[in-house]
Amino acid sequence: MNIAHAKKKIERLRKKIHHHNYQYYVLNEPIISDYQYDQLYKELEELERLFPELITSDSPTQRIGGKPLKEFKTVKHTVKMLSLDNTYSEDEVREFDKRVKKGLGKDVQYEVTLKIDGVAVTLLYKNGKFVLGATRGDGLRGDDITQNLKTIRTIPLEILGDNKELMDIEVRGEVFLPKKSFDRLNREREKQGLHIFANPRNAAAGTLKLLDSKEVAKRGLDIFIHTIPEQPGPHFISHYKSLKKLSLSGFKVIPDIKLCSTVDEIFQYIKEWQDKREGFECEVDGLVIKVDNFNDQTTLGYTIKSPRWAIAYKYQAKQAITKLKDIHFQVGRTGRITPVAILDPISLSGSTISRATLHNEDEIKRKGIKIGDYVIIEKGGEVIPKVVDVVKNRRTGKEEDFHFRKTCPVCGEKIYRLLDEADWRCVNSSCPAQIKRAISHFASRQAMDIEGCGYILVDKLVDKGILKGFDAIYSLDIETIAKLERMGEKSAQNLINAIEKSKKREFVNVLYALGIPNIGINASNLLVNEFKSIDQIINAKIEDLSKIDGIGEIVGQSIINYFKNKKNLELIEKLKKFGIRFKSKKQISKKAFLRGKTFVFTGELDSMTRQEAQSKIRKLGGHPSSSVSKKTDFVVAGRDPGSKYKKAKKLGVKTISEQEFLNMIKR
Ligand SMILES: [Zn+2]
Repeated sequence: MNIAHAKKKIERLRKKIHHHNYQYYVLNEPIISDYQYDQLYKELEELERLFPELITSDSPTQRIGGKPLKEFKTVKHTVKMLSLDNTYSEDEVREFDKRVKKGLGKDVQYEVTLKIDGVAVTLLYKNGKFVLGATRGDGLRGDDITQNLKTIRTIPLEILGDNKELMDIEVRGEVFLPKKSFDRLNREREKQGLHIFANPRNAAAGTLKLLDSKEVAKRGLDIFIHTIPEQPGPHFISHYKSLKKLSLSGFKVIPDIKLCSTVDEIFQYIKEWQDKREGFECEVDGLVIKVDNFNDQTTLGYTIKSPRWAIAYKYQAKQAITKLKDIHFQVGRTGRITPVAILDPISLSGSTISRATLHNEDEIKRKGIKIGDYVIIEKGGEVIPKVVDVVKNRRTGKEEDFHFRKTCPVCGEKIYRLLDEADWRCVNSSCPAQIKRAISHFASRQAMDIEGCGYILVDKLVDKGILKGFDAIYSLDIETIAKLERMGEKSAQNLINAIEKSKKREFVNVLYALGIPNIGINASNLLVNEFKSIDQIINAKIEDLSKIDGIGEIVGQSIINYFKNKKNLELIEKLKKFGIRFKSKKQISKKAFLRGKTFVFTGELDSMTRQEAQSKIRKLGGHPSSSVSKKTDFVVAGRDPGSKYKKAKKLGVKTISEQEFLNMIKR
């Protein structure tokens, strides 16, 4: 290879890796397997080794991890938080062992621990108290996520015992979501129509990024402590023994640590865990091998990107090759249409696989999948196996091109793909696949507020064929309901009363209740401020809609698509006949003196919750928003304001205190 050729190749690789780095670290949505990513990275490393003159400071090999994300305070790590070198090869583990022994000029003991596929964090203790927790970030600086970490019950807020050498200590560990919590979380999200996490690591990373620690607490995160970056004191010589001491001092230290004196012992342990890891409480993707003695660690030191005294051995993801016979489609409760590969059944890590997810249209195009292709499927921490690649050299020429369908497989209506979405959706609100979810939403509190019409009852009514759409709610009679299991005369009467009462709901709630994609209560308010009746909205053009501040083109298109569907128009006519309100009761209230003003909150309010404040603004005709832009009128700064405050200052947006805000709404 000549240098010009190498240069081109290096540039291509860097571009790819930068892209995948972004997908993995910043978005938490990797689109290739870790193995494929590591192969790309290694190819680049190798080329740069051969042509060192081509190394530039912006190469992915010259930096660690990704940029810290917005909103959390950034903190500098006292000891650099480097990632470990990792390998899939036993030979490289042997070479590591040779390097270590040569470097130290003696035999060593290795401490071998499970490698948890989670999120690396560091915890700082001062005077025995937990004072700071942070993410790895770029290795030098991370996000201060102390509040979120405090919700993890296995993190001690105070160190037990009175060992002076442990009172001011930094420890590192891996935050993870146990497999069981992960399954439960995804089931709940599926029910709520939220996007599901690809694997437990993404779920844990996504959770730690939440700004509301109350939400974090609900997710059930956990942690294993595995590293003490600096020798705690002269009495601690062995890292392993220090961890043991920590486990007696309140920390959840990683279990099953093994001390090994030879490489063969290490390999034996690697083999032992190859299958055993399946039954472990969380995802284990390899083993970490560390030199145990703190002094030896210091002697060996660091390269620019990783310690010389440790290496991670990773298990290959479980893959298999089989024939893709066909592609079917599933309709989720929000109308999302997912392509599913129908496979020649094949055994993979103990179970028979006959279906695998293909994610969406773009993924199929990107991989160039044809029907009849041999494909590589992979089962990682994911719920469902996925198709990762096509084996193109096994093509016979008989494979057929694949075209994404244009209609819903359940109801046959035309399907739509919104501008910024990867998914096609069925927007027909009478589609049987979506009826249950649509009715539950219709009856919910901010919508029609029908008390007693929860999802259990809705499921029953739909399964029995009594409800075929939410208009049918208004035809329900007391006898039908009373006959249902666990209902009875009294609760049936209450339900009928609640249904009757819902006819008085205001236009804004009715509009929201329709469940038009992308129209939350906020957008609904904006629309009702602008249009006096549903007919005006139906007749609105995309230009009319997208010019409304806070609506924009994507939401506008969503509204247009919804009303293009005849069945949706029929539904509205039926609801009108039942006396549902599709007009504003009166002109905008005289009190709506915040009309057209946009507010953003940062920090904590003392006098009310953020939700209460936002609802007050809406009542007064204003618009609460979650992000600061030039269009923002006021940023209300509560206690400990975050980065939105800085952004407001930068953009020249007016910032006001909580007291000023209270005075403003009192007027
Ligand atoms: Zn449909």
